[in-house]
Amino acid sequence: MKKAWSILPDEWKPILKERGMRAFRADQILQALYRDYITDWDQATTLPKDFREQLKTEFPITKTKTLEVSKSSDGTQKLLIGLEDGESVETVLIPATGRFTQCISTQVGCGMGCAFCASGARGVVRSLTADEIVAEYMAGRALGEITNIVVMGMGEPFANYDETMRALKLINAGRGPNLGARHITLSTCGVVPGFAKLAAEGIQFELSVSLHAPNDALRNELMPVNKKWPIDELLAACAAYTKATKRIITFEYTVIKGINDSRECAEELARQVKRVPMAKVNLIPLSPVSHRPDFKTPDERTMLMFLDVLMKNHVQTMLRRSRGKDADAACGQLRLRRIGG
Ligand code: SAH
Repeated sequence: MKKAWSILPDEWKPILKERGMRAFRADQILQALYRDYITDWDQATTLPKDFREQLKTEFPITKTKTLEVSKSSDGTQKLLIGLEDGESVETVLIPATGRFTQCISTQVGCGMGCAFCASGARGVVRSLTADEIVAEYMAGRALGEITNIVVMGMGEPFANYDETMRALKLINAGRGPNLGARHITLSTCGVVPGFAKLAAEGIQFELSVSLHAPNDALRNELMPVNKKWPIDELLAACAAYTKATKRIITFEYTVIKGINDSRECAEELARQVKRVPMAKVNLIPLSPVSHRPDFKTPDERTMLMFLDVLMKNHVQTMLRRSRGKDADAACGQLRLRRIGG
């Protein structure tokens, strides 16, 4: 048994053939799944009834349930999605002029343990399968046409590389939802083996790297992943990636008051980032998280000072606003939830 939403459009024909099912059915299936966006084979009324029954047992469509919708005053919506085994994940929809961005999760919880992030506060329960990640997208697109996807929800995509990539390839596929690769951004905390793998895919997904500290001493404290892959190794992997793909890398830097917000940090960050050709920096003020009340959001002046230092050092930098804070939907606020206990 294979889940329908885990099968790439081009894989349907051979799969059907292998099972003695007729090849032209593949086109009907793809139309039902990605033109009509059915959520149950019974809705595929162009298919004969006995064929629908066969699809139900051989290639079931993942059943998820939107358990909760939280709305932020800025228009951001967060969906809590219940999975078939009773676990749940959050996905966030962010409207902007001409855009409707979906932030998707790749794991239930997160095993990376970054100090400032609520997603890792209780560890990782399990990775999502490709069809579950596609199911998140399907739940999101029910609220409006998705123009962009950022893989910046719960979980570390490079710690669930294969399933994440399969889901993104499916969403990107021409005969699938057909969302352009350049409209899909992966974000990693620095799981180094993922960079070469992604470069080898030859797909033009965008890549962000969560850096958050300009040296190993500080990064070790904030991000345990740094003990496994320290900054030198991480930046070398980034440089190899930009060299091989000719694609930019965006470094995410969450600014935490009194922790990584000094002028020296900004200067050191500029030096580090410049080791990677075609690098950019996004500065994001920390979103408050309840498990670390000692971590505070920096004031506007600090953000501007930090920005100024980077710009003066000729680093392309953007100041980002966190969206959806009053719905606990902002960066780092997604967390593991147990329904009914
Ligand atoms: N594991 C991946 C995907 C998560 S992306 C990664 O680490 O990149 C989520 C982004 O939000 C990351 O850049 C993360 O470091 C950042 N983030 C986490 N907690 C945050 C917080 N409290 N405030 C602002 N950004 C935060």
